[in-house]
Amino acid sequence: MPATFVHKFDTPVFKGEVSVPLGLYIDGKWVDGADGTTIDVINPTNGKLITKIAEGTPKDVDLAVKAAQRAFDTTWGLHAKGADRSRLMNKLADLMEKNAETLSALEALDNGKTFKWAMRADISHSIACIRYYAGWADKIFGQVIETSEAKLTYTRHEPIGVVGQIVPWNFPLQMMSWKIGPALATGCAIVLKPSEFTPLTALYMSKLIDEAGFPAGVFNLVNGYGHVVGQAIADHMGIEKVAFTGSTLVGRKIMESAAKSNLKKVTLELGGKSPSIIFDDADLEEAIKWAAFGIYFNHGQCCCAGSRIFVHEKIYDEFLQRFTAHTKDLKVGDPFDPDCFQGPQISQQQYDRIMGYIESGKAEGATVHYGGHRIGQEGYFISPTIFTDTKPNMKIVQEEIFGPVCVVIKFKDDDDIVAQANDSIYGLAAAVFSQNVTRALSTAHKLRAGTVWINIANMLYPNVPFGGYKQSGIGRELGEYALSNYTAVKAVQVNLHIKL
Ligand code: NDP
Repeated sequence: MPATFVHKFDTPVFKGEVSVPLGLYIDGKWVDGADGTTIDVINPTNGKLITKIAEGTPKDVDLAVKAAQRAFDTTWGLHAKGADRSRLMNKLADLMEKNAETLSALEALDNGKTFKWAMRADISHSIACIRYYAGWADKIFGQVIETSEAKLTYTRHEPIGVVGQIVPWNFPLQMMSWKIGPALATGCAIVLKPSEFTPLTALYMSKLIDEAGFPAGVFNLVNGYGHVVGQAIADHMGIEKVAFTGSTLVGRKIMESAAKSNLKKVTLELGGKSPSIIFDDADLEEAIKWAAFGIYFNHGQCCCAGSRIFVHEKIYDEFLQRFTAHTKDLKVGDPFDPDCFQGPQISQQQYDRIMGYIESGKAEGATVHYGGHRIGQEGYFISPTIFTDTKPNMKIVQEEIFGPVCVVIKFKDDDDIVAQANDSIYGLAAAVFSQNVTRALSTAHKLRAGTVWINIANMLYPNVPFGGYKQSGIGRELGEYALSNYTAVKAVQVNLHIKL
């Protein structure tokens, strides 16, 4: 019988006792992993143990796939009416709303993001996402296609079957919601692997999914390491589609596994090196605040983080001075402090990686204009960091750092900035700041990115698609677009009176 994690929060922003099951959730039951082993969950504010979760194995993935297939063939898929799927999803959203503070507190404890922002962004967006897709569940339909008066031809958008979903640690609940929302709405059955760095909200969600009354096997959660459980999902012959958010490196491995196994459909939401472009006619005060939010939100651990800030030469000096002052004012520390904007990075591994990039920037001759150092004696806190005097081929300009580190670069004219902004293997997002609508829009249209924000940054909605150009990924999540990832189109041709 798997253990339960019981934790008493006594913080300025949240007080209360929370209990989280620590097992795997397979076929509507909480179970231990096949090998009976566990994985340590670490608190990023101090590097100490929070709890231990059950560790899944390929054998557990196999059990989960079988349970999901049974549900798909009997109680879910084409056997559950859209209206019933919608009702269950809305019930889940109600339960998430009722437990929003608990979910925020768990996210803050486990991931290190601030309780305030977890509540405002992660949890509220996740609830909205489940409600949005609940609305779609009874609106999945094909087309009637005119072929001949002697025939009736139509398409059906059928659920694709059992799907694997691999979720990262930067937005644990939000990425889970983006994935389970369209899958449940279309009638797919799910095997989900959270990141082992941040499993607590996914475990709590499994409890809420159970409470909402979804049939056994519709949703299965297998915690475990990426190269074991993630790999088993990517390789599995019974999984028809895999959705992954994470590094480009692992994205490639998943495509390879899909190609070598059953050619399962793949959607990938990968890295980025997004530009924020500040023209000389921008509202400077607002541009500074949004550009800072663009890079520092979630401690820079955003795939769409605006880590390359390009500033027109006419306003460069003033921008840099005021942007630096704004950066200095961001409070870094305890995620449960209501005044903190930034908590720790997720792990020692990510801390080392980011500090490695800061060292490489220095070694390649860039200037650390602000920050560049550790904060405190324990945990994984890094000061927001601004680099200047960079060159286009430096690693800190080209590679995704995934931390609170930006480069501020001067540009001269509109053509030059489009070329510089597009000089990246990535193409996830971009932000443009200008009061001139023609200039802003013509720049937006020339940028090779899946999302372009104008006079704003990092803003996402459940009904607006998100995904990347180039090596930032394949396919789109969110919005109506995401539904097609989870359906197979069947064309049916009926002969009314053609004789052969
Ligand atoms: P990974 O891509 O390794 O991890 C993301 C998820 O994939 C985790 O659940 C991981 O599990 C899993 N995974 C790892 N290996 C495999 C595999 N062979 N098959 C299937 N799943 C696998 O990212 P990291 O955590 O190592 O972070 C490294 C970098 O990736 C970051 O610095 C950042 O640049 C990028 N990243 C991008 C994200 C995004 O939102 N686009 C999110 C997270 C990271 P496990 O944790 O057990 O390895």
